[in-house]
Amino acid sequence: MPNALFEERTRQLLDGLRHSGQFKELRYLTGPMGPTVRLEGWGEVICLCSNNYLGLACHPEVVAAGRRGLEEYGAGTASVRFICGTLACHREIEQTIGALVGTPRALTYVSCWTANEALIPTVAAEGDLILSDELNHASIIDGCRLARAAERQVYRHADLDDLEQRLRAASNNRARWVITDGVFSMEGDVAPLPGLVDLCRRYEAMLIVDDSHGVGVLGTTGRGTPEHFGLLGQIDVLTGTLGKALGGAAGGYVAGSEQLIELLVQRSRPSLFSNALPATVAYSARAAIEVLRRDPERVARLHANVQLVRQGLARLGYQCHDSPTAIIPIMIGDTAEAIRKSQRLLELGVWVVAFGYPVVPQGQARLRVQVSAALEQAHIDQALEAFARL
Ligand SMILES: *Cc1c(COP(=O)(O)O)cnc(C)c1O
Repeated sequence: MPNALFEERTRQLLDGLRHSGQFKELRYLTGPMGPTVRLEGWGEVICLCSNNYLGLACHPEVVAAGRRGLEEYGAGTASVRFICGTLACHREIEQTIGALVGTPRALTYVSCWTANEALIPTVAAEGDLILSDELNHASIIDGCRLARAAERQVYRHADLDDLEQRLRAASNNRARWVITDGVFSMEGDVAPLPGLVDLCRRYEAMLIVDDSHGVGVLGTTGRGTPEHFGLLGQIDVLTGTLGKALGGAAGGYVAGSEQLIELLVQRSRPSLFSNALPATVAYSARAAIEVLRRDPERVARLHANVQLVRQGLARLGYQCHDSPTAIIPIMIGDTAEAIRKSQRLLELGVWVVAFGYPVVPQGQARLRVQVSAALEQAHIDQALEAFARL
């Protein structure tokens, strides 16, 4: 039976979104993700809003591997990991991920969202203290919410002094966890990893880094934020996604010590009660990591493209602060204005998404430009031309 109260409040919410210019229209693609995409109603446009940083989403080897996974294993096992849902290809992708990010072992989930929700409440026990950066991804925030037995605090964004004060104030006889994004998705800045590692050592805290926007992007061989800072192998726990640079389909992972991963196998609720990563994705992600390993030039091309776009935008007078990541926010301020500008860019053949409240704070609406190794000089020239006309 329809419930009048629910119907009324939902109608009001959706009307409110429409009137305040916050309503999101889904745009449909009619082909694969590349430097350009076919966008229903718009035709072919240059894509500057995907996390397809290495251009591997429709790489022939990645596509062929996914097809092979489907042929060898079928669609799936209709089971969770511990019953009859663990495939030999899970062991292979998990070994490949561990080797890539520099940990002894890794465990996959259907997404990094799930990985964060699996990890945090499983490792943080009664009496533990969790310290989370205020700009952390929503999946970390929700993962912390699930860790009800632990005390949770939020420290100011990338603020090592604030973090140290909180660590110092907490008594020594409890486990302490510091959680941060490696690369922050809305600002495009990098976590101060050397300082975080140092603090965590001094206060015997465990450091968790979610490197979803860093893996494949940062470091000369794309091994992520730890490689960027020369800290490979020195981070206690890494989480990340296979749904961005590493193939772009879906899937996530937790990477850490043998014992930590074994704890997750035994106790994390998503691995006990929810299906595993499909074989198609295990295969395509493994092929993506193999292409990255064989051809680190792809990372160099991404870094070169980031420089071209950043410098080009700066020349046009756009304020974009310096950062090694492939995320370039252009601050606009007003949400409606940011949406109008992204609409105009699309008319000029360039797809850039505007982010306003509540994804970012009120008055800090922005266009978020994301760069890919797949972009050729002509795409970058055309995109900068559109920004010039804007
Ligand atoms: C994108 C992202 C996620 C979610 O990844 P999925 O695999 O799509 O669930 C989690 N954490 C961070 C920091 C992200 O940027």
